[in-house]
Amino acid sequence: MSVSDFLSKVALHKEYNAFIQIDEIDLNKRFENICDGPLKGELVAVKDNICVEGLNLTCASKMLDGFKVPYSATVIQKLEKAGAIIAGKTNLDEFAMGSSNEFSYFGPAFNSVDKSRVAGGSSGGSTVAVGCGLVDYALGSDTGGSVRQPASFNGVVGLKPSYGRVSRYGLVAFASSFDQIGPITKTVEQSAKILGVIAGHDPLDATSMDVPVPDYVANLKRPASEFTIGIPKEYFGEGIQPEVEEAVRKTIINMETAGAKIIEVSLPHTEYGIAVYYIISSAEASSNLARYDGVRYGFRGSDESMDEMFRQTRAKGFGSEVKRRIMLGTYVLSSGYYDSFYGQAQKVRRIIKEDYLNVFKKVDAIITPTTPTTAFKSGEKLTDPMAMYLNDIYTVSANLVGIPAMSLPVGNDKNGLPIGCQIMAPSFKEETIFQLGTLIEGFQK
Ligand code: GLN
Repeated sequence: MSVSDFLSKVALHKEYNAFIQIDEIDLNKRFENICDGPLKGELVAVKDNICVEGLNLTCASKMLDGFKVPYSATVIQKLEKAGAIIAGKTNLDEFAMGSSNEFSYFGPAFNSVDKSRVAGGSSGGSTVAVGCGLVDYALGSDTGGSVRQPASFNGVVGLKPSYGRVSRYGLVAFASSFDQIGPITKTVEQSAKILGVIAGHDPLDATSMDVPVPDYVANLKRPASEFTIGIPKEYFGEGIQPEVEEAVRKTIINMETAGAKIIEVSLPHTEYGIAVYYIISSAEASSNLARYDGVRYGFRGSDESMDEMFRQTRAKGFGSEVKRRIMLGTYVLSSGYYDSFYGQAQKVRRIIKEDYLNVFKKVDAIITPTTPTTAFKSGEKLTDPMAMYLNDIYTVSANLVGIPAMSLPVGNDKNGLPIGCQIMAPSFKEETIFQLGTLIEGFQK
């Protein structure tokens, strides 16, 4: 693709609002300086909470208005070295907080299959860019489902790697004990290829692990008969859209027919996942977002006294959902409430982790739906934060536990909306996910 082909494609899909920043001069330069490597000439869209030198960083917030970053994230440096071209920055929920991409300062991104529906979030723009075919693949970030949920809503493949697998140097922190960067692609093989490039230890991120990165692409094929797969009964309960359950169950039957051993398992504390996730992630966010004070980054709300400057900057710079998280997070950390909310949530997080570790003694992977429903209508959950949060019920556990998880398409509902199936595996076992994903892709043909 040339620069002008790309720009005219984006213009044709303008109403989806996938991109919030494309710099033509910068793009021309990038096309002229392509490195030789496995991703040579491929266009990648980058969620606008990941630093790319030469471009602004907004996090879809007024708070970062005009902020240009002086360096590129490790993942960006690795992609460029492998030959990739950074196409531009994509839309997201402000500071990656949301499940619909409706909390963006730049307006919502819309679903690539049905424009009246939400893109999903928070990596909505990245998944829509891939769904509409504007780029070869994209990067998103996943703190509680932000790569997998919009991937599921747009019929593409989204991977959240294991905690520690991919460097987060240059990713704006939301909830540091959960955040991971992951690829959004059309196929499982592409996902394996991108992870192979971006994974690995980085001395600039103390949470990145020094463990070998296997050749994922060379090991994609493994017979179904070599796998034991767990189906957790708690993931098929109340509130699930019947067509979603049907499509995922059909995938499981196909897997069994192909020779896999399927067993029912129990993850008894699943129902506490949402509460635990929103308490801990908000606590971490309230601390991470304290740095936006009007002095160091972007927007400043007032030039009066120092107190007034802090107050006005934070009152005017943040949108309503981000303020809600900061207040929730500050509350659960405050003295008198710390033990009963934050402390308690940490203990339950540990119990949820033990549930998973126990199940992984018996199975190689777990298969579930990615979301209880297909993409909902724009505006439908905007005034009901609880309904919005509940959409993450199947995705948050992988972040609480730190394990890798992928969403991939397994059909459509009666309105033609994509249905996503989720595969989870033990930490650093992404190759199992790619192998099972390849089998599932085969069933769709
Ligand atoms: N929807 C979740 C939230 O709003 C997840 C966000 C994410 O993964 N960045 O917190």
